[in-house]
Amino acid sequence: MNKEEYRMQLKDWLSSIQGAVQDENIRQKAEHLSFIMNDEHSSEEEWYELAESIAEDIIPQDAMRDVAVGGHQLPPLPYRYDALEPFISKEIMYLHHQKHHQSYVDGLNQAELALKRARRTNDFKMIKHWERELAFNGAGHYLHCIFWFSMSPSGKQKPTGQMLRLIEQSFESYDAFKSQFSAAAKQVEGVGWAILVWAPRSQRLEILQAERHQFLSQWDVIPLLTLDVWEHAYYLQYLNEKATYVDRWWNVVDWREPEARLKQAQQVKWAPF
Ligand code: MN
Repeated sequence: MNKEEYRMQLKDWLSSIQGAVQDENIRQKAEHLSFIMNDEHSSEEEWYELAESIAEDIIPQDAMRDVAVGGHQLPPLPYRYDALEPFISKEIMYLHHQKHHQSYVDGLNQAELALKRARRTNDFKMIKHWERELAFNGAGHYLHCIFWFSMSPSGKQKPTGQMLRLIEQSFESYDAFKSQFSAAAKQVEGVGWAILVWAPRSQRLEILQAERHQFLSQWDVIPLLTLDVWEHAYYLQYLNEKATYVDRWWNVVDWREPEARLKQAQQVKWAPF
């Protein structure tokens, strides 16, 4: 198919999704697609990328499949193993993806299935072990998913638009952000990650070091319900009876907050792997 045929096909497709285009976000993207399709300097890859992102937006919420317990999969790399050379060698990419990431996926599935068995048998004596495995492998899997898809041999090398505005708002300038991110990465003690995060509470970006990602979160998840078990939360009343405090805490729990958070958190959807 040549460029002109592809343009016609996309135009037909855009008119076939008129209904969905009422949505403000989709309408803007569709408008932008029509605009760049008429720009001789834009490439078919750019059209395809934008069309794909529009298609994702109009998939109804329940059509986006969830990942079953123990059903995580290694995502295919969006480029070849040698694509990032000379910056990252083919050998590293192959081992890193095929062996290391795969082992996180396997370990995460194993932990999820073990916890499923524990719930069925009401036997939680290994809970600490499996929660550690869940965090170590879950963080590994989720962070690598972000990592692979945030690289490309022919990607966008500088943020623009909303991302750039927020970087400037949060860190003063793109250069200052880059310096802090690099410094954070270089000074992660031992093993870990540098991570740019969005803080919904402060509506700002932040840079964090995940020193040893297994302590003890999955780094791609949104907290809904929390129970403070620091000593200051119960010691004056319960002394060392932490278990009693936990059992009695259920009398004052209020699910309205977790439910409201869930509703908002569900707006965020990553590709299922
Ligand atoms: Mn890695």
